[in-house]
Amino acid sequence: MKLLEERILKDGVVRPENVLKVDSFLNHQMDVKLFVEMAKEWKRLFAAKPINKILTIEASGIGIAAIAASVFQVPVVFAKKAKSINLDQDNYCTKIQSYTHRNMYDVIVSKKFLTKEDHVLILDDFLANGCALMGLLELVEMSGAVVEGIGIAIEKGFQKGGSEIRAAGIQLESLAIIESMNEDTGEIVFRAKNE
Ligand code: 5GP
Repeated sequence: MKLLEERILKDGVVRPENVLKVDSFLNHQMDVKLFVEMAKEWKRLFAAKPINKILTIEASGIGIAAIAASVFQVPVVFAKKAKSINLDQDNYCTKIQSYTHRNMYDVIVSKKFLTKEDHVLILDDFLANGCALMGLLELVEMSGAVVEGIGIAIEKGFQKGGSEIRAAGIQLESLAIIESMNEDTGEIVFRAKNE
């Protein structure tokens, strides 16, 4: 998506260890006008799918998923980071390894908000090694709901998550795919569409 790629080139900062900082429009300050355009693009890409719920993960996914939910006219649920003490039979629970913090954490979704009647679109800000998405897919599987697709704002195509998800046969729509980025020069190269 051209608009997002241009914004990444303008405001994204390449940090050590393959981290792209996009705090000024996505992860901290949020450009809601941009989010609306991203949501419309996902709506177009998933037009054929009977989506009745959006699922994301705390914290950075919530902003984009909330705006998308408004465009899709469906409820949005976010997987919550939980203290072990809150893990109980009312929730689906799994463990996820954090890309940015390296540690493992528990996430939960209430059984009330994800059921076998649901047709879910999973949304998140970044896709790197795919740990966050694998955790979300596991929660959906536990609930018996159907995953209709996954929408990602920024995929780092040189990390393994994207190819694993596509190999699993899930429709994955990343609005910007970074082919390479250079910490020393700050250069960011995008994958051309349909490559
Ligand atoms: P994965 O689980 O796919 O390895 O990493 C995805 C998660 O880690 C995302 O939810 C995102 O919050 C975080 N993440 C991964 N790579 C980056 C990055 O380059 N920049 C930022 N800001 N977050 C990232």
